[in-house]
Amino acid sequence: MNLHEYQGKEILNSFGVRIQRGIVANTPEAAVDAAKKLTEETGTGWHVIKAQVHAGGRGKGGGVKLAKNLQEVEKIAGEIIGMQLVTPQTSAEGKKVNQVLIAEDVYYPGDNEPEEYYMSVLLNRANGKNMIMYSTEGGMDIETVAEETPHLIFTEEIDPATGILPFQARKIAFNLGLSGAAFKEMTKFVFALYTAYDKSDSSLFEINPVLKTSDDKILAVDAKVSIDDNALYRHKDYEAMRDEREENATEVEARNAGLNYVDLDGNVGCMVNGAGLAMATMDLIKQAGGEPANFLDVGGTADAKRVEEAFRLILKDENVEAILVNIFGGIVRCDRVAQGIVDAYKNMGDAINVPIIVRLQGTNADVAKELIDSSGLNVESAVQFQEAADKVQKVLA
Ligand code: GDP
Ligand code: MN
Repeated sequence: MNLHEYQGKEILNSFGVRIQRGIVANTPEAAVDAAKKLTEETGTGWHVIKAQVHAGGRGKGGGVKLAKNLQEVEKIAGEIIGMQLVTPQTSAEGKKVNQVLIAEDVYYPGDNEPEEYYMSVLLNRANGKNMIMYSTEGGMDIETVAEETPHLIFTEEIDPATGILPFQARKIAFNLGLSGAAFKEMTKFVFALYTAYDKSDSSLFEINPVLKTSDDKILAVDAKVSIDDNALYRHKDYEAMRDEREENATEVEARNAGLNYVDLDGNVGCMVNGAGLAMATMDLIKQAGGEPANFLDVGGTADAKRVEEAFRLILKDENVEAILVNIFGGIVRCDRVAQGIVDAYKNMGDAINVPIIVRLQGTNADVAKELIDSSGLNVESAVQFQEAADKVQKVLA
């Protein structure tokens, strides 16, 4: 589950990470109130207005702007709220901005120039460890840094069993070129950031930029956070942060129906039970010259109702030209699934307007095949995996 910047910052703050303070608003009037309140708390008269959407690169798209007085806060908030924000990370239509974060200006002048760094904590799946990636080149997009100056990106592996060790935090502060008060502040920042990542069961915390202010404070100006969905049951307060307006509508519907669905760009819909078989099926579709339109794991109970729900989800995607159903009947009986498909098909009538290829293997597979073949519907059965792929290829040709 992805979070908005302001929500990520709330979590950071709750673990003692210093943040650029802000208040979220969904009207220009609320934005002005928020700015007044921040001025009372922090003394700053300048504010940044930041679009809250699930996409980075907002600054480049005109979604982050500085306001030097309350009139400007009202005007800029009015412009950003409701706009379709296009950034390098959104589609061409962009994302609708429902709310803005009014934040204190933290780039104020002082003894030193403010400096921007990059820092993220994420899981390294290759070795089962966490890692902190960091760079002196903050503020700009890290992909460009990785491409053009990869030697300026450092990584620090953290063993999840020990957590971050003091020497590691010091090494990071040292590699960022810090000394004195800023060095100490950075070690504290790194510790708190790692703790936030660890304790919130997140898969990513990306802070770009981490700022060293002109008076040597270290703080998070931005926050991109992904919480591991499988751990959300332990964090009901984070679950409430879900903003379904930012998510793919079909994926939201699937989740509410208890189906595991991921939208993809291809033309062959797949309905499969088990994540491993689903991935193998996607490979097979590709080999047959098609492209999977989705990942869909219907789970263990493929009865008529679930099968129907799955068909409806797949058919919402206008790119779908064929559907491949690939179910292994281990616990669930194949004939029950076949009956489910036939019933769903009859219930849905004209709604199913693409050919369907069904491969049922396992318990009562022969009965299932008989059921499909004698149904008189536009459904083709297959016994072997390859046979299913060949049939997909044929209907796409
Ligand atoms: P992103 O573009 O979506 O990554 O949004 P960020 O939160 O990273 O903000 C983009 C840029 O806005 C930052 O890199 C800063 O250069 C600038 N910015 C953010 N906060 C402030 C601020 O308080 N004052 C000023 N002057 N600029 C800011
Ligand atoms: Mn950023």
